[in-house]
Amino acid sequence: MLGNKIRKVKVDRVSIYRATDIAKNRIKKMQSQLEDVERDPRKNERLEDCKCKYCFYIHNVRMGGAMFTSQQCGLCNEVMSFPSTATDPICSSCAQENNLCKQCSGDMDMKHIRKNRPYESNNT
Ligand SMILES: [Zn+2]
Ligand SMILES: [Zn+2]
Repeated sequence: MLGNKIRKVKVDRVSIYRATDIAKNRIKKMQSQLEDVERDPRKNERLEDCKCKYCFYIHNVRMGGAMFTSQQCGLCNEVMSFPSTATDPICSSCAQENNLCKQCSGDMDMKHIRKNRPYESNNT
C-alpha cells in the first residue's frame, strides 16, 4: 500500500485529558473572537489599522516567511514593503480613501455597496 507511515501516538488518561482541554479552549477562543466581532471593543485601533473586523479580530495571526517582501498596491501601484511574506493587497492610504480593509481588500464594514468608490471615479 502506498502512503506515509506515521508513528503511533500514545493515548492514555493524561493525553486524553490534555486533548479534551485543547479542543475546549479552541472553541472558547473562537467564541471570544466572535464576541469581539460583535462588540468591536478595539474599534479605534482597528480603524487606524485599516482592517475589517474579520482581519482584525479573527485572522490576526499572520503566518509568513521571514523574508522582506515588496508588492505593488493593487490600486495606486505604489510599491509597499513588508518584513515578511505576509503582504497586504493595497496600501493604507488607498484603503482609507476607499473604505476598504488593507489586509483582505474587502469593504471595511463588510457591506456590498452599489455606489462607486473613490478609485472608480478618479481618472475618468
Ligand atoms: Zn495604494
Ligand atoms: Zn479584511
